[in-house]
Amino acid sequence: MSKSILERLKEGVVLGDGGYLLALESRGYVQAGPFTPEVTIEHPNALRALHEEFLHAGAEVLQTLTFYASENKLAQIGYANRLGEINRAAVKIAREAASGKALVAGDLCLTWKYKEGDSRSIDDCRRLFDTQIGYQMEVGVDFFICETFLWVGEALIALKCAKKTGLPVMVTLAFEGPKTRDGKTPGEAAKILEGAGADIVGTNCWKDPYYMLPIVEEIRRAVNCYVAAQPVAYRCTPEVPFFTGLKAFPDKLDPFQLTRYELGDFAKRALDLGVNYIGGCCGCEGSHIRQMARVLGKVPLEEREWAIDYQHPQSATEAYKTLRER
Ligand SMILES: [Zn+2]
Repeated sequence: MSKSILERLKEGVVLGDGGYLLALESRGYVQAGPFTPEVTIEHPNALRALHEEFLHAGAEVLQTLTFYASENKLAQIGYANRLGEINRAAVKIAREAASGKALVAGDLCLTWKYKEGDSRSIDDCRRLFDTQIGYQMEVGVDFFICETFLWVGEALIALKCAKKTGLPVMVTLAFEGPKTRDGKTPGEAAKILEGAGADIVGTNCWKDPYYMLPIVEEIRRAVNCYVAAQPVAYRCTPEVPFFTGLKAFPDKLDPFQLTRYELGDFAKRALDLGVNYIGGCCGCEGSHIRQMARVLGKVPLEEREWAIDYQHPQSATEAYKTLRER
């Protein structure tokens, strides 16, 4: 893979991948609750298969499963001493699955250690991020995604740590309400991150496509840099417009899952708004990424031509409605 993420974005929209932790939880490899990624060392083949699924679906970037692979989060399950092993394994597996066909993005996320204005907590966050970055860089990533930050203050720390590697950095925030937890609107927060050197800014997780679109539209208007959007594929409600607040979270979300076509529609709308990096987050499986890839023209609408036999119909789809007629 010779072209960098920035060169690819310059040429046109880039398709990201889907959500790993919720997908692997539904398959029985991740524990709902802590949502720590020890699957990287305990069931590496399950993770590799999901990476390969997203790659096959059309994803042009694979994110390392290092979400919550920070020392404090791993300590919750007694795995703090396996921090290096877990981070290195995640990068190695993503790199192997990408097999030169996709970029590999190192990943950092919120730590729950950040306290606004508290210099000790800021030092703690910096140390947690620097440690993860060090282990991920031992294997090597193409750029960094700093994601799911509820405080722009904590996102800034992650951004500054990741920038020290000299690699491009994308920073995306998650919104529970109209503002970050430190009181910034999406536009204000995006401008702060752009000003601090983020190459790509945007939003991921928490919101479904319907609730995410106005946020990403505001971000697009506020900044000149590249913009990213990676929504969840779980339907949110006006009362609870973020999926982690639903009563069904974390392990009864199946009835809330959106169809591939709803994510495909999101990809089209985001593209029309001028979003440069489009992908999925929690709940987005291979089928959702595949449909987004189709909508964005990354893969053909159909794998191969097939002959329809109306005299001997196999199914309602074949008899009454072909996929081409959608
Ligand atoms: Zn998510």
